[in-house]
Amino acid sequence: MIDKIKGADRLNKIAGTEFWIFDLDNTLYPASSNLFAQIDAKMKDFIAQAFDIPVEDAFKLQKKYYHEYGTTLRGLMVNDGIDPDIFLSYVHNIDHSVLKPDKALDRALDSLCGQKFIYTNGSAKHATAVTNQLGISHHFAAIFDISASDYIPKPDPASYANFVARHAIAPNRAVMFEDSHKNLKPAADLGMTTVFVHHANNAPTGAQEMGHCHYLTDNLVSWLQSANTYIARS
Ligand SMILES: [Mg+2]
Repeated sequence: MIDKIKGADRLNKIAGTEFWIFDLDNTLYPASSNLFAQIDAKMKDFIAQAFDIPVEDAFKLQKKYYHEYGTTLRGLMVNDGIDPDIFLSYVHNIDHSVLKPDKALDRALDSLCGQKFIYTNGSAKHATAVTNQLGISHHFAAIFDISASDYIPKPDPASYANFVARHAIAPNRAVMFEDSHKNLKPAADLGMTTVFVHHANNAPTGAQEMGHCHYLTDNLVSWLQSANTYIARS
């Protein structure tokens, strides 16, 4: 079921959607796979080695940069001159085989009319490895990754402006899916319909903070199936 319905106008917009935009990590695959936990651990290791500091201090710096700059990488680039490609190839050198083919997601994506995109703060190489494992690579018109965004991460509005311009996306005919609700704010501000995909570690918080999330779901496939059913009937 669609968990939270914002009235007929919003549903009518969904029926007319031409652009489906998906975050990658913990959105297109479940957080319970612990794939992103591998990346998180790699980031901590990278910082500990780069600055020759204990892992506990590395973890603190990692999270400080994440909260201040949107991504740990952005903080490392701005403050410490870290080469983004060296960082990204290190942190995405993980075991992608923990992800299994997702036939239900494949079918749900297949039923959606319109162009589909991946919009990620990670690298295209990592996104390709993930979607190959899930068996869904063929659905996407493009991957807009952190290098395509000139290393400016979500939720910086400049990144969204770059993304919609690059792919000629009409925001009022777009739906965006994300497990980071703060990354949905600039999307909603542009006129996109937003779907917050939540899990155990990012449960919805106060209503005020969540006002830009038009829909909430803890199951992306179910949400897409409901949307497809609605679109087919409208
Ligand atoms: Mg994510």
